[in-house]
Amino acid sequence: MAYIAEIIGVGTELLLGNIVNTDARDVSQALSRLGINVYFHTVVGDNPERLKQAVAIARARADIIITTGGLGPTYDDLTKQTLAEAFGKQLLFDEKEAEKIRGFFRDRLGHLQITENNFRQAMLPEGCVVFDNGCGTAPGCAFESDGKHVLMLPGPPRECRAMIESGMLPYLKRLAGDEIYSRNIHVFGLGESAVEARLRDIMESSSNPTLAPYAKDAETTLRVTARAKSREDADALMNPIIEHVKKTLGDIVYGVDTDSLENTVISLLRDSGGTLAVAESCTGGLLAKRLTDIPGASRVFLGGITAYSDDAKIALVGVPRETLEAHGAVSRETAEALALGAREKLRAGLGIGITGVAGPGADEHGNPEGRVFISLSAEGTLVTRSLDLYYDRERIRIASASHALDMARRHLTGVEL
Ligand code: ATP
Repeated sequence: MAYIAEIIGVGTELLLGNIVNTDARDVSQALSRLGINVYFHTVVGDNPERLKQAVAIARARADIIITTGGLGPTYDDLTKQTLAEAFGKQLLFDEKEAEKIRGFFRDRLGHLQITENNFRQAMLPEGCVVFDNGCGTAPGCAFESDGKHVLMLPGPPRECRAMIESGMLPYLKRLAGDEIYSRNIHVFGLGESAVEARLRDIMESSSNPTLAPYAKDAETTLRVTARAKSREDADALMNPIIEHVKKTLGDIVYGVDTDSLENTVISLLRDSGGTLAVAESCTGGLLAKRLTDIPGASRVFLGGITAYSDDAKIALVGVPRETLEAHGAVSRETAEALALGAREKLRAGLGIGITGVAGPGADEHGNPEGRVFISLSAEGTLVTRSLDLYYDRERIRIASASHALDMARRHLTGVEL
């Protein structure tokens, strides 16, 4: 069964906009790792009446209520009292917690005087599970009442994050019984909605594992998420789905759990003993940058030439002046000359040339913003991809570099360019 959780952030400073509710983000992210659904984030000020109202609403629509903040020793820290009262629990003095508070002051806050109200933190709801606070004095806790689980975490983000890992996740894992495992299928060459259209049946029909697409920088990732007792069980659930996706989408799937297109290209070059050189115009060195982001790329990536002006294309890459005069800098012919020139100048097995209009607006020859030509040259091969990209300047450059990497990976794996 899938649990529903609601997160209640307690603190007037959150309502005033003085701080951002990063605790809710951290708790939500951790809950998604367990496959626990979060339908609402609520924020209330340091006001017991309104907190009581928020708890009553959460109790009616969630199985798990998680509060952050308001566990400290001061007057406005009212979370424990209010939650205990709402669920009919007494607050009891916990001598073990009191001793920890004395120890924390003795060992870490020697310069500060311990005061009576510090011991308010040692008052805990009867029968609760105590979450140790490794970074501060306020312990967190959890209890069950009428089938609802209530968890209280401290507000300071560092303390909250630590307790999510050490207290909240182990507590909730025992409830959920299962772990969550996921794998990523990387796709290049088809947008998120087109991918979804091709896989809609399986996305709608499968609940364990689930399949969901995410788009980023002209790429689409499909995340397969399974709930299971072990990694082996999860793989047994996920593998058939991964195979189905690969079969349905074909060679636009460039990897499963691989980091990036550039990583894939560098690995393929290493495996095949190949070398690559690039000559870039509109991407201004972005392709070379992405390739050199990969440690150890120097063994296979020989170098890149950024040739922005016509003169640079002629002088640095050897693009014939006549080609530029006859066809313009943004043309199939110039892209081909850039690919050939890069390959020859750097004596590489593979050469890539990119030229295009990153915008904003068309170039002086009437080429529209987003028109890009990318050529790949290898022994016996000269192929060009011509693109019209409907993005802004930055994304046109990112997508152009990604298309160039995709051409290289297709060439190196022997699939149609
Ligand atoms: P303390 O022992 O410090 O009083 P507490 O559990 O009572 O801890 P609060 O007093 O509510 O927590 O908040 C302490 C500080 O933690 C706040 O001033 C704020 O800087 C930060 N904080 C509280 N709640 C959040 C939140 N939801 N997201 C990010 N930061 C938060």
